[in-house]
Amino acid sequence: MSPRQKYRLRARSDREVVREVEPGKQYFDAESGEPFEVVGKLIPLAPSPSSLPYAVENLRLCGCSLEQLVQRDLNDCPHCDRRLPALEG
Ligand SMILES: [Zn+2]
Repeated sequence: MSPRQKYRLRARSDREVVREVEPGKQYFDAESGEPFEVVGKLIPLAPSPSSLPYAVENLRLCGCSLEQLVQRDLNDCPHCDRRLPALEG
């Protein structure tokens, strides 16, 4: 189990890291010394049995002719902008 949510952090120079963060704590890029800004939450959202951001169980086919794998928690396909069907179960 990985109960901690991971976030994507980005510095001004576009360097990115993925890590757990503590609220109110500032993180810095070890090489450039630039402060990191939180730019996104990674799926799977905590708590999840998987710590892999794009684990197969968190993906599904979008259903269009592009047949792209998309994250299960999205409402619209990021590749073709089609509305994704509601999840069963
Ligand atoms: Zn699509």
